[in-house]
Amino acid sequence: MSFSTPAFATLTELSQALAAKKVSSVELATHYLDRIERLNPSLNALITVDRAKTLAEAQAADTRLAAGNAGPLTGLPIAHKDLFCAEGWRTTCGSKMLENFVAPYDATVIRKLHAEAGMVCVGRANMDEFAMGSSNETSYFGPVKNPWDSSRVAGGSSGGSAAVVAAGLAPVATATDTGGSIRQPAGMCNLTGLKPSYGVVSRYGMVAYASSLDQGGIMAHTAEDCALMLNAMAGFDERDSTSLERAPEDYRRDLEQPLAGLRIGLPKEFFGPGCDPAVMASVQEAIKQYQALGATLVDVSLPHTDLAVPVYYVIASAEASSNLSRYDGVRFGYRAPSYDSLDDMYMKSRSQAFGEEVKRRILIGTYVLSHGYYDAYYLQAQRIRRLIANDFVAAFKSCDVILGPTAPTPAFRIGEKISDPVQMYLFDIYTISVNLAGLPGLSLPCGQAAGLPVGLQLIGNYFSEARLLNVAHRFQQATDWHRQHPTGLE
Ligand code: GLN
Repeated sequence: MSFSTPAFATLTELSQALAAKKVSSVELATHYLDRIERLNPSLNALITVDRAKTLAEAQAADTRLAAGNAGPLTGLPIAHKDLFCAEGWRTTCGSKMLENFVAPYDATVIRKLHAEAGMVCVGRANMDEFAMGSSNETSYFGPVKNPWDSSRVAGGSSGGSAAVVAAGLAPVATATDTGGSIRQPAGMCNLTGLKPSYGVVSRYGMVAYASSLDQGGIMAHTAEDCALMLNAMAGFDERDSTSLERAPEDYRRDLEQPLAGLRIGLPKEFFGPGCDPAVMASVQEAIKQYQALGATLVDVSLPHTDLAVPVYYVIASAEASSNLSRYDGVRFGYRAPSYDSLDDMYMKSRSQAFGEEVKRRILIGTYVLSHGYYDAYYLQAQRIRRLIANDFVAAFKSCDVILGPTAPTPAFRIGEKISDPVQMYLFDIYTISVNLAGLPGLSLPCGQAAGLPVGLQLIGNYFSEARLLNVAHRFQQATDWHRQHPTGLE
């Protein structure tokens, strides 16, 4: 075999190389494991690596490939955000609480990608503790370094998934997005990140943060790779009560559609002050590119955008406080080594094993759900959530996709915002309303500001993933921002 794996190969390129027998799955796995060994100690992108397990999986994939029993993903390496339960793998959620938790079963996403599609897991990606954060700095396992500039964050909460792909430690990674955790790190690390519509990808076996907002998705180099992955990940699952029963789709079907006549909505609330001028300049260039591709521009408004941050942090915290009540030191997770009574055991286990941000969310969530405050906060937030969703419904009457920046600035410095939670929460301004509405969203590279990647966000109507991927793919055929990679990692 004569294939030297390019450091930043796309999934599609590797899939072709495997099919043409230019490389084996074991060779690919070895290539990535070697890079991980070399680069992960400084990036801190992966929490768990298990060479023997990875190679055994690659060996099995090679057997399948040789038997002609392979699909387009068989034998391809992937990293998983450390909250997808995978049997036999430590699944920490970035928390001391689950530091030693080994999942006893597979999440549906894991089953589909491994048992069914035949992918090979090269490691478990670092993340903010229980996916709460925007910078990967709340992880018990330490912050992830941005491969573009090691003094900066890789974004959050899926910072590990982003750094892994951006540094070429795997060609693709799973991630989750509750308020922007796929799109924002993808933007900061020059990747294409897709958060599907709520209910498209099963949440079974995905450790819950805020169940009405959580959605699994993909971090990759290209929209084409995202489409390939979504084909394998999407689908109804009777084990997830919010999974939607829809006919299967081929998410690649529209990739090549021309964009002539596409109506792009520009919400005035995404183009106001608040956004770094250098980010805005890249977004404006992208808009010109879309016009050159035949799209027309439409002014739209999402008038409740200002309320998205407070509403999200009430609802997400409320759901988190309920979901995290299961960590009591009894059946799994951390248990305090000494205690005086059952209550004391609960108290000590939880206070010793949860980090500060998680505790803050539990306190906020418990408060807004408590008798006397429920109506004023939680119920009110639910009402405004509906108004936010209605804003999108109205906007999509006059456009096909909505476009804007993914985040207000490029990657900030490690330590810059972590002591000011409100500043950190406000950073989510462009991404969280998409989760509150349950819509699909995507971030793709559209430029650089002082050498740091800038993300462009595309938001689609419900279940328009194929169209969103088409709109991103056409841009990637006309530009090469997504082909820019950090230097010094070859
Ligand atoms: N930054 C947001 C939060 O802390 C979103 C995180 C996410 O999408 N998981 O809740």
